[in-house]
Amino acid sequence: MDADVIVIGAGLAGLQAARRLQDNGLTVTVLEGSDAVGGRVRTDRVDGFLVDRGFQILNPAYPAVRDFIDVRALRLQHFGVGVMVRDGSGLSTLAHPLRHPRLLLETLRSGYVTPGEVFALARWLAPTLIRETASSRATGDATLADALDAAGVTGPLRRSILDTFLSGVLADAGGTTSANFVRLLLRAFAFGAPGLPAQGMQALPEQMAAQLTRPPLPELKVAAVRDTGGGVEVETDAGVLGGRMAVVAAGPVEAAELTGITAPAMNGLTTWWFSVQESPLAEKFLLLDATGTAGGPAGPVVHAAVVSEAAPSYAPAGRHLVEATTLLGPEGGDADEAAVRRDLERMYGTSVTGWELIARHEIPRTLPAQPPPLIDRRTQRVGDHVFVAGDHRDTASINGALVSGDRAAWAVAGLLRGRNEV
Ligand SMILES: Cc1cc2nc3c(=O)[nH]c(=O)nc-3n(C[C@H](O)[C@H](O)[C@H](O)COP(=O)(O)OP(=O)(O)OC[C@H]3O[C@@H](n4cnc5c(N)ncnc54)[C@H](O)[C@@H]3O)c2cc1C
Repeated sequence: MDADVIVIGAGLAGLQAARRLQDNGLTVTVLEGSDAVGGRVRTDRVDGFLVDRGFQILNPAYPAVRDFIDVRALRLQHFGVGVMVRDGSGLSTLAHPLRHPRLLLETLRSGYVTPGEVFALARWLAPTLIRETASSRATGDATLADALDAAGVTGPLRRSILDTFLSGVLADAGGTTSANFVRLLLRAFAFGAPGLPAQGMQALPEQMAAQLTRPPLPELKVAAVRDTGGGVEVETDAGVLGGRMAVVAAGPVEAAELTGITAPAMNGLTTWWFSVQESPLAEKFLLLDATGTAGGPAGPVVHAAVVSEAAPSYAPAGRHLVEATTLLGPEGGDADEAAVRRDLERMYGTSVTGWELIARHEIPRTLPAQPPPLIDRRTQRVGDHVFVAGDHRDTASINGALVSGDRAAWAVAGLLRGRNEV
């Protein structure tokens, strides 16, 4: 046997599985098909900028991040908890009242906060805010759009803020995601201040990988996983490896190809990264567009941010980094650069002619769709000796990937212990 357990994929789920297996005294080999660890959490250096492969932020309030990650060592640079909105009358800010009390008056005067709608939203969220499990364990679930309609969240806050903000977070423009899942996400936003690590998002998986005594093996793509009855055989481009058990943490679609489970539908988005000389807005908030006729965005950009205002380490001295996010339709159609620039010009109220597009990440497999009902503990054992792990087995998020990897590892360790093999 080459190892007790072979983990396939060095994304967050695979890395957490490997760490937990190692903690249980097992030898673990991690095989990664690409050139480095991280999976969907990767960072490139481009012209002195840190550019994540798709804009995403780390929420330290995620329970698994709190439990498994040394967040302090990542030196998070925080975004404001709230959003700014461009509409016909200018720019306004809606900020978390406890985190940004100085912005309370501005928030109340924004025109998006009406007592009836805020009360309806608070009532809808309350059970999950009070107790985290209230949402994931609830029996009733519906699509986000139906749930907000039924709760009476139907005013300007919904039309101009919630629908746009959540479409960017979920990569879902149709409000088809599980309402219970969204309540869990909003809970994390209510209790945490998301941010970006000083060295880029990839610092997160790198921290995890550094704790493995057997470093993940990059550029070893797995072609097949076979349950032999007494263990597993894993076929790579460099030969066949043997182990007692395998955890397939290869991402939703690849895990399905390797194990025969059903692949979820995937939601996609595109991030456009611009190098700019002067910051167009000295604020740490995401910016939404509400100049469209229905109160939402007038073009394809669902949010933008001067990333370097929140995370100065992302830009070299004298430059700023702006991101703009657009959604990828199911058929893969995407916004063009001219439309994105038109949106940014309107949203920031400035010419973007001198802005240089330094990277564009089109990621059709950003997140597994999470329709109702929310099932946040999907089966992971797919054979006597084979488990799957990943965000598609829990919730479509960093938290879900970590929880799933951990859960698979405990199950595998328990089984091997039961056979007196640990
Ligand atoms: C643009 C973008 C924005 C996001 N924003 C957020 C956010 O703000 N908040 C949030 O919580 N989540 C966000 N997410 C989601 C989050 O990043 C993912 O849920 C999480 O990283 C998934 O981790 P995973 O380990 O399950 O899968 P993956 O990261 O997909 O890892 C799978 C790994 O397996 C490897 N692999 C695949 N096939 C093989 C093979 N045959 N052999 C060997 N290795 C293989 C892959 O190379 C990869 O490294 C975002 C994702 C993207 C892409």
